[in-house]
Amino acid sequence: MFDKILIANRGEIALRVIRACREMGIQSVAVHSTADSDAMHVRMADEAVCIGPPSSAQSYLSIPAIISACEITGAQAIHPGYGFLSENANFVQILEDHDITFIGPSAEHIRIMGDKITAKETAATLGIPVVPGSAGGVPTVEDAKKIGAEFGYPVIIKATAGGGGRGMKVARSEAEMETAFRTARSEAKAAFGNDEVYIEKYLTTPRHIEVQVFGDGKGKGVHLGERDCSLQRRHQKVFEEAPGPCITPEERERIGKICADAIGKMGYRGAGTIEFLYEKGEFYFIEMNTRLQVEHPVTEGIFGVDLVREQIRVAEGMPMSFGQDDLVINGHSIEVRINAEKLPNFSPCPGKITAFHAPGGLGVRMDSALYDGYSIPPYYDSLIGKLIVHGRDRAEALSRLNRALGELIVDGIDTTLPLFHALLQEEDIHSGNYNIHWLEKWLEQNLAG
Ligand code: ADP
Repeated sequence: MFDKILIANRGEIALRVIRACREMGIQSVAVHSTADSDAMHVRMADEAVCIGPPSSAQSYLSIPAIISACEITGAQAIHPGYGFLSENANFVQILEDHDITFIGPSAEHIRIMGDKITAKETAATLGIPVVPGSAGGVPTVEDAKKIGAEFGYPVIIKATAGGGGRGMKVARSEAEMETAFRTARSEAKAAFGNDEVYIEKYLTTPRHIEVQVFGDGKGKGVHLGERDCSLQRRHQKVFEEAPGPCITPEERERIGKICADAIGKMGYRGAGTIEFLYEKGEFYFIEMNTRLQVEHPVTEGIFGVDLVREQIRVAEGMPMSFGQDDLVINGHSIEVRINAEKLPNFSPCPGKITAFHAPGGLGVRMDSALYDGYSIPPYYDSLIGKLIVHGRDRAEALSRLNRALGELIVDGIDTTLPLFHALLQEEDIHSGNYNIHWLEKWLEQNLAG
């Protein structure tokens, strides 16, 4: 059993991991930048080490600083949270060389899934259905036009090294290809330092459905159903739920089994998410995330398992505490992501919290690192909290969300809370009738600034 785990992250996810450690009797070490000296994760952990100045590159992304913090404190393992170093194969390799356990998959699995072309090839080989598209990278506009003609427009041009919804451009006709292709490449170069792109058929009205998987690293794999994360703004999820309102038990069983078998065959260790677009009863793989996702609590809500605890167990070489047959869905869970952003333009809005009150009661979970008097620094992601509700069915979860949103108070800054109050007035949200474009259209009609 690990005695001490270092958390290479900040904000709500650092608290999430500290909480799991505490329940398991494991000491926790927080790391922080100088801008985060007063942050909640620093206060809540058993120990804290300052690892650098505000800039993430010199603190939360600094591999030497994080390894030094491990050595100073005697932490035997690192939990990376999400973002920052969580999908950095080089970091995992360096930890292996330093005899520090990475709480996550192997460097090799991160590398395979981090490159979207290799990921797609691997998925197809493992029997996972993929979006039709180019076989590998597309080097020139002429090649891109050939692929457009072959698959038919619209198509989407995506960065091989992509992530966070960046470096993607849609071409609706051959005439649009030239500009879309060049823009995607230059955005990819700027964002990821790699301008390789590939092309996929653009699905016009899909839902975003992702399957939570878990492996013990020794050939056993299970799935924990799906999450529907179709409500997105600029390809970023804002509202997630489990189970997916449009997925039948038969579909869940079919795609879940395909994913669980793939994870077993890979010998994958820990938590992972296999993302699909879903249209007209078909699933199309888009990518796999080799880490804990922001929206993991909705899965925890319906299965009643602690995914972080499970990650820690398998990283130590212990068996998983559940098998496929133990995983039975109970009710419905919804998460909304609350950002320090000002509507209608979603411009970042850091600043001092003058009052904070978290909602409570049956079926309500608030994962947030906010507290009264806390000053949100301007250097990091604008996510300040996740409100997660659980109900016996979807209707109960929605009314509980409405009730909990009414209790939540965040004063002193602007947040995206009014967006959720407004969305809960919409019939389509109550009927579950939305796809990945629904929110963008709604924002245009209702919030155009
Ligand atoms: P990232 O890693 O940047 O998040 P993804 O490949 O997961 O990129 O895609 C993010 C989002 O972009 C999807 O949830 C979907 O909204 C949209 N998208 C990606 N590929 C397609 C496609 N082939 N057709 C339609 N929409 C797509």
